[in-house]
Amino acid sequence: MKRDPIKFFELNFLELTTELKRRFNRGHYHAAALFREIYKKGKTDPSRAPEFVNSKSFWKQLHSDLEINLYPVTRTVKEKDTIKFVTRLSDGLEIESVIVPMATHCTVCISSQVGCAMGCRFCETATMGFIRNLTVEEIIGQIYSARFYFCVNIRNVVFMGMGEPLNNLDNVIRSIRVMEDQRGLDIPKRYISVSTCGLVPGIQKIAKLNWPQLNLAVSLNAPNDRIRSSLMPVNSIWPMLTLREALLNFPMKKNGALYIEYVLIKNINDQRDHAHQLAQYLKPLKAKLNLIPYNSRRQSLFLPPSPGETSRFLYWLVQENIFVRKRSSKGQDIMAGCGQLCNAQRSRSYNGPPKLIQAFP
Ligand code: SF4
Repeated sequence: MKRDPIKFFELNFLELTTELKRRFNRGHYHAAALFREIYKKGKTDPSRAPEFVNSKSFWKQLHSDLEINLYPVTRTVKEKDTIKFVTRLSDGLEIESVIVPMATHCTVCISSQVGCAMGCRFCETATMGFIRNLTVEEIIGQIYSARFYFCVNIRNVVFMGMGEPLNNLDNVIRSIRVMEDQRGLDIPKRYISVSTCGLVPGIQKIAKLNWPQLNLAVSLNAPNDRIRSSLMPVNSIWPMLTLREALLNFPMKKNGALYIEYVLIKNINDQRDHAHQLAQYLKPLKAKLNLIPYNSRRQSLFLPPSPGETSRFLYWLVQENIFVRKRSSKGQDIMAGCGQLCNAQRSRSYNGPPKLIQAFP
């Protein structure tokens, strides 16, 4: 009977070492070779590494157990330097990820689920409904593709793609443990952000891990419960005061802050008294507010604010002594902005050839 596979992208270095020890009485030396070849050199066929060339019978045993699963990038769409890419999973479902260039490095925005169950009214992904959670290797695979398929210098990872990460929390936590491993992707928690629509039990569970370096972003989008419940069904279960209580207990590093996302929607949450209510809500929190002008989705019920309306709301918040930044959603034209990731088949395609590395299938 075939044994359970060793899924390479699901394990950090210590876990892989333990597994090699348990199965083959090998360990650190060969785990280090696999991590070096796959994560540092981007080679998905490590058989030619000296550690395995010199130990052919072991490689044969290992090879029959080891799974290095990467899923193909089937489409890419590009706007300026922002790239949205679609990955096809083994069951044929597709997920989207976005590479956003920054001054000296890139950020990759990754998905944690196929679709989403949370039903936020302004969100493109919500129209898909929930299909399934991503596995750890499917989450890690998106970062690996960004780094080795598109050959970009990925430093930051944000869980802001398709899905609510706290609804797939065990796999998100495990994937963070994999991505921060210095022998592997080497992306420390301070460069990782998890974004939630406000699932209080999930926030409390992360708080218990006591990871003050990890960044938490909360998609708030409303100044009061009435508006928030009308935009985000999650608010009917965990209203704003309950959410704030959980945020007040979230561990943070010295000088750290929560990120509060506020998608500004014309005539919905953009009035003067909304700015005041929002400021009152935020006052007890150590938080930075990101103001994001709404991007219209297909057949949207809502309108984007004009640049003048956005500036006016921003000004009101500054008057209320709120630390606020206006964030443009890079990649709006390719539906790669906030809340706009959805199966990309309908998007216009980009035919520019990404640079393939030799070892990528
Ligand atoms: S905004 Fe986030 S949580 Fe809400 S439906 Fe969209 S993907 Fe899900």
